[in-house]
Amino acid sequence: MIIIIKNKKKLFTYVLFIISCFFIIAEMFSTSHQNSIPVMKDNAVGYIVIIIDDFGNNSKGTDEMLSLPIKFTGAVMPGMPLTEDECKRLTNAGKDVILHMPMEAHTGKKSWLGDVSIMNSDTVEKALSVFNKGLSQMTNCVGFNNHMGSKVTENKEIMTAILKDAKSKKLTVIDSLTGKKSVVGKISKELGINYLKRDVFLDSTQDTSKIIANLKKAGKIAEKQGIAVAIGHVGAEGGLPTYNAILKTYKELEADGIKFIGVSDVFKK
Ligand SMILES: [Zn+2]
Repeated sequence: MIIIIKNKKKLFTYVLFIISCFFIIAEMFSTSHQNSIPVMKDNAVGYIVIIIDDFGNNSKGTDEMLSLPIKFTGAVMPGMPLTEDECKRLTNAGKDVILHMPMEAHTGKKSWLGDVSIMNSDTVEKALSVFNKGLSQMTNCVGFNNHMGSKVTENKEIMTAILKDAKSKKLTVIDSLTGKKSVVGKISKELGINYLKRDVFLDSTQDTSKIIANLKKAGKIAEKQGIAVAIGHVGAEGGLPTYNAILKTYKELEADGIKFIGVSDVFKK
């Protein structure tokens, strides 16, 4: 097809239009912004992976969360008084365990990171050694996500080294997406690593009705894209209201055909 456009202004608009279409189509086919559909042999309309962050310190809601009748994944912080104890409690309750790796953020107090944390100024060797120190404190660990980390997840050098190490250990990586410029998805895709990203934050509120609304939002995303990753918390950012919201909502979501699975179930064949 030959298009003759004499007017230069029109030609410029036409070229811009073609370039825009290219980017829109490229975005539609890109998988880096969407979680992949798990390979499972059942008739669920979608799967929700609930990850509960900040285990390891007997924080508010820990006992209740462990009593939930659905499968979820506990993200356990290293270097905490009850790190190893809560890994075992999660396993005994039939839940999955991942490392909740503290990483430096653009904002927030350094004390919120704890003693075992990766800083943006760390050398690659130091960052790898801290990551492995964290992993060594876990039991039955199937992956990791980031605690805070908006700064470090933008650090290509450190994240490449950590993700290569995670791949060699067959760990699943879940980007909590605390920063807008995270490189975790792009590098994971390049490395062919098992990767998930957070779709919904459930809490950071004590309002149970808002958490229920966020759970239902996760259900809609799961129906649309096959799987949704929803992150909640024990402790001040969630705790009992998050537990209550899950307890009140899970049956309704299950009745709609949603299944709750752990991180370890996603990439099973
Ligand atoms: Zn956290």
